[in-house]
Parts: sequence; structure tokens; C-alpha cells
Amino acid sequence: MTQEDLFKNLIAHTKEYGFIFPSSEIYDGLGAVYDYGQLGSELKNNIKRYWWEAMVRLNENIVGIDSAIFMHPKIWEASGHVGAFNDPLIDNKDSKKRYRADVLLEDYIAKLEEKIHKEVEKGKKKFGDGFNREQFLATNPNVLRNAAKIQSVKERMTAALKANDLAALKQLILDCEITCPVSGSRNWTDVRQFNLMFSTQLGNISDESGIIYLRPETAQGIFVNFLNVQKTGRMKIPFGIAQIGKAFRNEIVARQFIFRMREFEQMEMQFFVRPGEELDWFKKWKEIRLKWHEALGLGKEKYRYHDHEKLAHYANAATDIEFEFPFGFKELEGIHSRTDFDLKRHQEYSGRKIQYFDPETNESYIPYVIETSIGLDRTVLAVLSGAYREEKLDNGEERTVLKIHPALAPVKLAVLPLVKKDGLPQMAREILETLKYDFNCQYDEKDSIGKRYRRQDAIGTPLCITIDHQSLEDGCVTLRDRDSMLQERVPVGELPQMVESRVSMKNLLKQVK
Ligand code: ATP
Repeated sequence: MTQEDLFKNLIAHTKEYGFIFPSSEIYDGLGAVYDYGQLGSELKNNIKRYWWEAMVRLNENIVGIDSAIFMHPKIWEASGHVGAFNDPLIDNKDSKKRYRADVLLEDYIAKLEEKIHKEVEKGKKKFGDGFNREQFLATNPNVLRNAAKIQSVKERMTAALKANDLAALKQLILDCEITCPVSGSRNWTDVRQFNLMFSTQLGNISDESGIIYLRPETAQGIFVNFLNVQKTGRMKIPFGIAQIGKAFRNEIVARQFIFRMREFEQMEMQFFVRPGEELDWFKKWKEIRLKWHEALGLGKEKYRYHDHEKLAHYANAATDIEFEFPFGFKELEGIHSRTDFDLKRHQEYSGRKIQYFDPETNESYIPYVIETSIGLDRTVLAVLSGAYREEKLDNGEERTVLKIHPALAPVKLAVLPLVKKDGLPQMAREILETLKYDFNCQYDEKDSIGKRYRRQDAIGTPLCITIDHQSLEDGCVTLRDRDSMLQERVPVGELPQMVESRVSMKNLLKQVK
């Protein structure tokens, strides 16, 4: 099965089992907006908890806040979003479809990379055991031609984006002979800048002065509260402020499911440090954050760093942690060394002094900032796509299973009486009663036990407890493991500790500290 088919199956699966629904579906949906269903919201909450506790609970010098979505409009002038939060867009005149110019070029590069990949596969087949990958990549004329093309397109694109040269971007699209995926034509408009912020009106003020924006990132809510938190929390540098919350961007290209949404959630942490020490902290946070991801067990090879060549106006170093989604490696988290740009600008625009007095050096200064910024929805997608398997079992049956880390699984445990009679449901309910305060449990007595196991596999439930006739006599139940499908007999009294040891968030958190 191709990655594309697998991705389609995953999207259908998340809908079928109540993880993610298209927004306003009965009205035919709303572009790039999604709702989380009964299981999706549990998963999201567990991811939030994992992030929040790894940041706020495990670090004495990081605290969390929850700032409002609406903020004073001047904030977005100070941050540079009013002037520069743009994407270069281009329209195809025949299909009337709108694209991001840089995304069209990135897709073109991805196609060339795919060609190289195919050439390598061909080479492998042709040369068998004697195949030398490095030598092949360094000498095969088709590979070399495509690699040179990739290099040249990347260089021209980076230069055009850096210089904000929209004409050069268009020329590059023309030179690459990129066609519209819908109309197939090369009939393009010029490239224009498009601001991604949504705006709305405040109260009854209907003129320009009433315009406010829906925040496009949560970070500014942290910056404008820097003094409040530092003073009331008696925070000493280095320290961090974390926040989880909604952000809104009027994305031009709405696709790839919940990868790029118009309303999404971010988990951001701004870490304030002494000027001059920021690059050391940048390096540390890069490592800490990768470890957080890797602890989820989706495979270390699924992550990579991508250091930025084109830096945002506020940054002196930036890297992405990319994840291998079904549509390739893409940004999951950004780690940015934001210098003192934001606090300095807010000092300038608000007229308030935003400085920190460092008792160790006896100096006042504007702190430098390292930001870690991760998309919650992209993490949900990473977890789901990394965990989704269509497996063929030894007995010839098939199962779809979500091998989600037990600490993140929406339902931890299913309690299943083997039959709906003979006192088994009563015993099952008693067990449920003792466990439900600590774990999210499901009770299910419908259909055969095999079918019920499949249903739990499909939603990623790590453990199933089956109560059978013997349970009534010996007080033991069968505990079935989702991944190995192994079953063991366990005394009812030992269940709480056993379940805890398999699903607790503590195990996960211990790996990141
Ligand atoms: P991209 O280049 O993919 O548009 P970005 O560089 O603009 O992303 P940042 O501004 O660094 O993203 O935002 C931090 C994180 O927020 C991203 O790493 C991503 O996980 C998440 N994010 C950004 N835009 C979206 C979106 N439209 N939908 C879902 N998540 C998003």
C-alpha cells in the first residue's frame, strides 16, 4: 500500500472511531477547520498534559499561564505581524485556485527527490548485493542531474524569499515549468503577499480603530506578561513561561488534514536568558525537545532537525524538529532563538520599561529568548500516523491497531464480561467501579470477545480485562496486551498496580528528565 493510501485510510479511521470530524460537516464542512470527537479530545488532553508536566511540573524555573486570545492591536504591530506576517501567494488563472508560491516550489523539489529515490531503487534491483549507494548517488547521471536541479531551485528560492523578491519567485515557478495540479496549466498570476491574520471588530466600534486580531501565535501573550510573571513569581533568569492555547491563521493552502488548519492549538514556551548565553540554551532546548518526542516510541528515525537558512526577522538561530508524516518529513516543532526582539519592541511600542535586574551581575537588561513552539494538532497527527497499523495476524485475520503510547491512549482499559449473563456483568461492573477513578475505562459487553478486542485495538486501548466464569471462582481475570496480544491471568486485587505500571504518565515523564 502506498503512503497516500495509508494516509487516506488513517483519515477515514479517525472519523469512523470518533477522533476527528470535519467541522460543520452537516453543512458540507468548513475548509481546514476540524473538530475533535470523543476520543480525539481525550488524546489531545493527554498530549497537553504530557507537554505541560514536562515543562511546568518538572522544571522549577518554568511556570505556565493562560492569556486571552484577544489582545491590544498594537501588540501585533510591535511583533511585526501586521507588517510582515505574510505568505507569498499565486493564483492559477484557469482553475482559479490559489497556492503558496513557496509550497509549489517545495512540492516540485519533493518530486525531484522522489525521482532520485526511484532511481536508487532501480539501481538496487539491477546491482543486487553489489549495490553501493554512495557510489551510485555520486555517479549516476540521472541522480546527479536531479540533485543539481534541487540545489539550484533551493538556492534561488531561499534568495528570493530572503530578499522578498516576488518577481523572482514567479520566474522560478515559470522556469521550473510548474503546472497547476487542478487545471494543468501554467497560466499564473503574479506573486502577491497575503497577511495571515484574521481580524474582527471590538464591541460597537465599527471604524478602523475597533479592529482587533485573533492571535496567530500564543507567544505574544507570554511576552506582554513578562513583567507580571517575573515579579509576582519572583522568577530569576534563566526562567521560562509556558502556555497552551488556540491560534488562528488564514492559511492559503488548506490541506493535509490537521497538518495545516486555520484554527489550531499551540504549546509554546519562552525561555528568558542572559544576553550572550542564548545560543548555548538554544542547543540545550533542541536536545531536550527531541528527547520529549522520542520518548513517545514512534521511532527515532521518524524525527530530524532542519536548521533554517532563511531566518525570521526576530531570530538569530532557528531549527525545526521535523516528523516523517505520511506525506514526508515536515515541521512539527520550531525552536527559535528570538534574541531580545519581542521584549524590546514591546518596550518601544508600549512606552513601559521591560527590563530585568540581574542580582548576580548587578545589571539591568532586556533578556534574550529561546522559544520552543509545537503544534498540538500536528502532534496528534504525528502520534496517530506513527501509531496506525494494518496488520495481518498469524491466524490469517487482519486487524487495524493504533499503537499509541499507553500514557497518551484515550482509553486505558476495557472491561469485558465474556458473556452477558451468569453474574459476569456484575463482577465486571464492580471491577470498573474500582478502576474508573484512576483510569479512563470502557465497559463493553456486546458482540463476541474477538470483535470487542478488535474495537479496542482500533482505538488504541493498551489493556483489556476479560471476566469469565472461572473469574467468579478464583477471583482472577484475563489481562490482554494490545501490542503483543498476549494474555495473562491476574488476581483482581493486583489490577490497579498492574494497570498503573503500564499506562502511567510518570513512566513517560521519567524518560524526558
Ligand atoms: P509552516 O511553515 O508549516 O507554516 P510555521 O513555521 O509558520 O509553520 P510556526 O510559526 O513556527 O510555524 O508555529 C509553530 C508551530 O505551530 C509549528 O511548528 C506547527 O506545529 C504549528 N502550526 C503552525 N501553523 C499551523 C497550522 N496552520 N495548523 C496547525 N499547526 C500549525
